Amino acid sequence: MTTGFAAIPASGSYVLRNARAPACLVEAGSLASDRDGLALLDIIVEDGVIGSILPAGTPALDAAPALDLDGGIALPRLVDVHTHLDKGHIWPRRPNPDGSFMGALSAVAADREANWSAGDVRARMEFGLRCAYAHGTAAIRTHLDSLGKQIEISWPVYAELRAEWAGRIALQASPLFGVDAVTDPAHMQAITRAVTTYGDNLLGAVTYMVPELDAALDTLFRTAIEHGFDLDFHVDEANDPAARSLEHIADAALRHRFQGKILAGHCCSLSLQAPQDEARIIAKVREAGIAVVSLPMCNMYLQDRQRGRTPRWRGVTALHELKAAGVPVMIASDNTRDPFYAYGDLDLVETLREGTRILQLDHSDRDWAKAIAATPAEVMRLPGTGRLAAGGPADLILTRARDWTEFFARPQADRTVLVNGRAIDRSLPDYRELDHLMSRSA
Ligand SMILES: [Zn+2]
Repeated sequence: MTTGFAAIPASGSYVLRNARAPACLVEAGSLASDRDGLALLDIIVEDGVIGSILPAGTPALDAAPALDLDGGIALPRLVDVHTHLDKGHIWPRRPNPDGSFMGALSAVAADREANWSAGDVRARMEFGLRCAYAHGTAAIRTHLDSLGKQIEISWPVYAELRAEWAGRIALQASPLFGVDAVTDPAHMQAITRAVTTYGDNLLGAVTYMVPELDAALDTLFRTAIEHGFDLDFHVDEANDPAARSLEHIADAALRHRFQGKILAGHCCSLSLQAPQDEARIIAKVREAGIAVVSLPMCNMYLQDRQRGRTPRWRGVTALHELKAAGVPVMIASDNTRDPFYAYGDLDLVETLREGTRILQLDHSDRDWAKAIAATPAEVMRLPGTGRLAAGGPADLILTRARDWTEFFARPQADRTVLVNGRAIDRSLPDYRELDHLMSRSA
């Protein structure tokens, strides 16, 4: 059992003194913040709930038991809006043969066909959830590979896990399949049934520049409108500027006057467009109300890889330009120890640290913490998650780091995670627990 550095008072009600929190994530009137956008606060916890948030040093709190955080950064528990729990941790039995995108696609397809029984999927998803929970994640959206027999295997397992994890991690799932499959009515029937029976009013697909793209998008938007679904797409995960399915999604959203939420993931090729094309596409994305999530670690791993050649491109989308245009932007974990990304642990502190380095989020706005907290919570329709507010749960990540340079320089392995005001066990599951699933078949 490890609960991190902080000695939380045993009583149900206590004060966290001198916590530094990103002002963009705190709902407490106008707060003075420092050059890192951090505000020095006293947070009053009352029986698992945040009673109030006050500027540090407010008198009249002297009687309550207290922990002085000495200026350490406190975050709300975080929100991972793009993951693949069902693919996680298959690397030992199915590594990516060459680190390429096509290598990932074919390796996962072969592994899914051979090994993804309900028991296999459940054990790996649960392992990922335990990692995410220990790191301080409050909510996860996962994509679920949804083709053929896998639909009937993965979705019931997902629904069971969502129920078992309620109160610890809020789960959402979006179906994942190539957009070419939309033209098969039997497939769309099976997908719609899975989403309405086991899902979360969320439909999705991977968009490619196939001839049937616009017709397929029309079907997806019509289905979403008919059933009241939100949409989540994997978009243009490629280095080819001709990959512009993002623009087609925006056109379809405007054509159908879509009122639900739309999230577009990856959008790598947007950053390789000519400036006038990039500006036109971003303006349409803004007008269509599409939010964008970048997956910096996975993009850095897969994109611009050629044997014997040093990569020249970081693989990420034009996130600063999207944000400047008013598009809601976020970053997320994506894959963990599978052929799409060999590493990763569903740790959003790592995602923000690596995202800051890869996307150069520093030396720009001071509100990038929203990208792993309040913004994805809005996309997931989880009001109150990913922010700190009186009346909300006392769900926090506490660290010793007093500014972003201290925060990003170290992995914050000694952080304390509070759920309903109590420090949780931060022990991570041992990979050996999955060894029995890793003997490779087929
Ligand atoms: Zn993905």
